Amino acid sequence: MLNLLQEAGPTLQVAGFLDHSFVNGEGFRSVVFLSGCNHHCPGCHNLSMQSFNYGDTLSSKDVFEKIKKNAPLINGVTFSGGDPFEQSERLVPLLENIKSLGLTIWFYTGYTYDQLLENESFSQLLPYIDVLVDGRFEEAYKTDTKKYIGSSNQRILKLLDGSIQEELCF
Ligand code: SF4
Repeated sequence: MLNLLQEAGPTLQVAGFLDHSFVNGEGFRSVVFLSGCNHHCPGCHNLSMQSFNYGDTLSSKDVFEKIKKNAPLINGVTFSGGDPFEQSERLVPLLENIKSLGLTIWFYTGYTYDQLLENESFSQLLPYIDVLVDGRFEEAYKTDTKKYIGSSNQRILKLLDGSIQEELCF
């Protein structure tokens, strides 16, 4: 495992960071918004974050240190964006280090689970993810009543070792 406390690790394009949130997944969570998305869903709620250049260029170590500072208070870390899978080539060291703190990891993506499986770079992240919220935002299925999703086509999938264990409903 790359120890990010000693090495900078891969560079990430970060659109935003929340120390604490109750609305981006179950429990009290830090949230990393990663820049760049190719889905272009009509009605996108994070339009500016679709750009791959939006936000700040940070080392994985920089991001990890923000998370480590919050670790005593939070249940886990949520990755959103943008679509965080677009930076999948650079995310493994950060995810490994987050898991070493005993924190859970949620990921939001516009891809479906099956689409992620078909892409080697995307699927390498699945074993680190505890909960995957999958699917594009579809305006026709917009919902304000279901927790943690924006449209009812999106699924909240509990993963174990990269495989779906069950679909969660909140
Ligand atoms: S996947 Fe998310 S960030 Fe990307 S266009 Fe759709 S709503 Fe916007």
